[in-house]
Amino acid sequence: MSTTSDDAVRAYVAAHYEAFLDDLADWLRLPSVSADPDHAPDVRRSAEWLAAALSATGFPTTEVWETQGAPAVFAEWPCDDPAAPTVLVYGHHDVQPAHRDDGWRTDPFEPVVDAGRLYGRGAADDKGQVLFHTLGIRAHLAATGRRAPAVHLKMIVEGEEESGSPHFPELLRAHADRLACDAVIVSDTGMWSEDTPTVCTGMRGLTDCQIDLRGPDQDIHSGSFGGAVPNPATEAARLAAALHDEDRRVAVPGFYEGVEELTAEERALFAELPFDENRWLRTAHSHATLGEAGYTTLERIWARPTAEVNGVSGGYQGPGGKTVVPSAAQLKLSFRLVAGQDAEKVQQAVRDWVAARLPAGIRHEITFWGATRPCLTPLDHPALQSVVRAMERAFGQRVRFTREGGSGPAADLQDVLGVPVLFLGISVPSDGWHAPNEKVELDLLAKGAEAAAHLWSDLAATWHPG
Ligand SMILES: [Zn+2]
Repeated sequence: MSTTSDDAVRAYVAAHYEAFLDDLADWLRLPSVSADPDHAPDVRRSAEWLAAALSATGFPTTEVWETQGAPAVFAEWPCDDPAAPTVLVYGHHDVQPAHRDDGWRTDPFEPVVDAGRLYGRGAADDKGQVLFHTLGIRAHLAATGRRAPAVHLKMIVEGEEESGSPHFPELLRAHADRLACDAVIVSDTGMWSEDTPTVCTGMRGLTDCQIDLRGPDQDIHSGSFGGAVPNPATEAARLAAALHDEDRRVAVPGFYEGVEELTAEERALFAELPFDENRWLRTAHSHATLGEAGYTTLERIWARPTAEVNGVSGGYQGPGGKTVVPSAAQLKLSFRLVAGQDAEKVQQAVRDWVAARLPAGIRHEITFWGATRPCLTPLDHPALQSVVRAMERAFGQRVRFTREGGSGPAADLQDVLGVPVLFLGISVPSDGWHAPNEKVELDLLAKGAEAAAHLWSDLAATWHPG
């Protein structure tokens, strides 16, 4: 299925790969650790480095955007056809902290190529995956003979992702007009494995809370009073125990309202993935699987909403016994959400459920910390189909589908910009995100550049967003 254009893209990427790796190594030498205030100047230098690199690639507009925290980089390269779709690429230029004595075999900020891999903090998460777009776009232009990309191309590369993107929604809202697009391509994710290229179609959402329970005004004698007044620690445990039914479904009434069920096609596609449950259990540091009846492990973590007790505490915690009815107890709960669920409705359902279950004499307060919406692109979305074809041309094999159980800034992009979010990532689980000896596979990085090169042509040819 190789075509002249595929060959031209591959040849261009191969011919320019060494220079590209030198550039990437330069960028990786900047320790842009957003969590550490001492590295704030490095995060800024990283933003400036990227803006210069995008200018050198050919983007006519590149800007460093200030936030209340670390700066972001914006770039724009319009297509000569005004009717072409507009695509915004998302990534981040900050990295997780890394120190040689965390277990790194080499200096985390002195990148090293060894046996087909590039080691260094940020190699996969996310500098490598941001920078493959610069090689991809040049290959796209070279292979098509174009002077501007086949789509209106924009990039937004934030500097605080590893610190939870605290100012990102604000940045998106402030620049919503400049960032307007028909779809977002997130290049900050991975694939199933080296041998099994996949496209992620969505991420779960999240909302979490703390429930404070108060009973007696102070700890009281369990002999004089116990058995005749409510005990907040007992009530915290009763709530935790009542959160799931016998089938391990969440028992909060209304919790599943609107949930988009997996289609038979998606279930079949998930089942095709070479999933080794025992190996997965080891990565989970757990000794058995357990979850909602009627679903596989992958379905449970990717496509089903959950409730989790993150912490339960209260009463006497010291050595030996202390015979009291404690005055206070606390529960911390989190809920992973899937497409179709409304975070505010889930929060209200939890509030109503807690209020209805507590006896008189137990006062309570619930604090929700926030909500991240789930995002999901249907398998038949034309832009998703383009991503799949672009990946298949780069990899020369069938591409399968995954989802992401976690939550991230993809949801902010979807919410603020109001467009579908698609994922183009080439990282693999062994890349060691956030861990010592982070690396990226050099052949996969090149395929990422090829996939990006194909994507712009394919989107322009096949997708005509209203
Ligand atoms: Zn990342």
